[in-house]
Amino acid sequence: MCGVTGAIKGESTDLHLPSLGLTATEGTQHRGEENSGMAVSSDTDFCMRKGTGWVSETFSRERPEWHDICAVENPQMIMGHTRYSTAGGSDVVNAQPHTIRTHHGHWAFESNGDIPGYQTIRSQMKSRGVKFDSQNDAELILLWLAEHADGHPKGIEAAIRAFMEQVQATYSAILMARDRMFVFRDPWGNRPLCIGTLDGATIFASETCVLTRVGAEFVRDVKPGELIIASPDGIQESSIICRADKLSRCLFEYFYFSRPDSTFDGLPIGSFRVRCGHRLEEEKPFPDSVQFVSSVPKSGDLVTEGLALASSLPEHQVWLHDPYKGRTFIQPDQVLREDGARVKYSLIPESFDQWDCYGQGDDSIVRGTTQRRLVRVARDGGAKEIHLRIGSPGYINHCQMGIDTPETHKLFAKPFVKDGQVDEEAAARELGTDSLGYLSVEGAKACLQKADGSWPVKPEDVCTHCFDGRDPFCDVCPCS
Ligand code: SF4
Repeated sequence: MCGVTGAIKGESTDLHLPSLGLTATEGTQHRGEENSGMAVSSDTDFCMRKGTGWVSETFSRERPEWHDICAVENPQMIMGHTRYSTAGGSDVVNAQPHTIRTHHGHWAFESNGDIPGYQTIRSQMKSRGVKFDSQNDAELILLWLAEHADGHPKGIEAAIRAFMEQVQATYSAILMARDRMFVFRDPWGNRPLCIGTLDGATIFASETCVLTRVGAEFVRDVKPGELIIASPDGIQESSIICRADKLSRCLFEYFYFSRPDSTFDGLPIGSFRVRCGHRLEEEKPFPDSVQFVSSVPKSGDLVTEGLALASSLPEHQVWLHDPYKGRTFIQPDQVLREDGARVKYSLIPESFDQWDCYGQGDDSIVRGTTQRRLVRVARDGGAKEIHLRIGSPGYINHCQMGIDTPETHKLFAKPFVKDGQVDEEAAARELGTDSLGYLSVEGAKACLQKADGSWPVKPEDVCTHCFDGRDPFCDVCPCS
């Protein structure tokens, strides 16, 4: 999971493009905290800078990286990236954007997604003499495009078209060349990408919350399989290169990754999560002994709101969340995740003095790091009964599409799977809770229907592989 942004100055005259790029990139910080980078171009100049850590660390006003980005005269286009590593580690060499100098000038490239056949394609390219600096899938895409554009009359565009038609991968991607920006999304629509406009400038971003953050107006989502070509004057053309018969939007974006103030392909994330909590209480109601519900903030807040609405139980805050700690799941290793879980949540004193049987709502359990610790601390603090409710199905399969859960045996729910279902009693015993309830896959799909009865995203058009093992891709690439 990563965040991508791009901006074209267009007709806008007053806009300070580096500041816009910085604000937009910071708006994707929740999608990756390991690396951040930006690249900027003008008619005559190009600059890319990247580093380790948060955007505010790499591009603070005192840093040379920020001054270098601002030093490009009359900038026309800018792109930014926040990275949560999938392929490759968190060394800066794996950070994005990646750049290359081609016959067509400087290119900078960034993406959010993954290539399931990365190692095979890399070996094939190496045998053709292509040299890699990193282990990062975005670098592979950039080198693949450079290789295929070389000597071709339509250059970059033809190379991107060939990539979209030939390589099975998930991506929301931006390639910035000297005088054009190419923006494309995988044929399955697995990763989100949207378009906005601000005073004549055009903005691309992983999530609509970025548009809100910079004061831009939402125009539309980039369509699955679409390639958009923009110049410093704005969008010049767009076409669907290749579209899968069965779309496969990441369902986990709706549960966890995207911010609740974003809308992904027409479905608002926040209200979806409330519906998931409501549906979960219908599927796995709390026992009569439960006196109140409490969220694991912030990611569990809206699921818990739904649980409270459906159960008519009062909400009562038990956990204090440290806003200066990042998201536990997107820490790159287990030591950091455990440290993050310890520092991130503290129990509010006397939480269980009056009521000591409660329902705890959260959005998901991937490795179980946070939940194990919270249950221990709540018990020590006086909780007699803890009934845990998770507003998504059990996460039981490794994701090949860009989410870093590489070892299936480290997934919390995996050892408790029987006949394709999580044995919730056994999982609750392991966690130390009195009960555990996951939302069913069918229940989650039903929550895609909005309160007005519409289905912006159809139940058959989401990827559920990590929850039920269904193949997110067709057997073959949709265009072959
Ligand atoms: S397997 Fe899960 S996390 Fe991966 S793309 Fe599918 S829904 Fe998203």
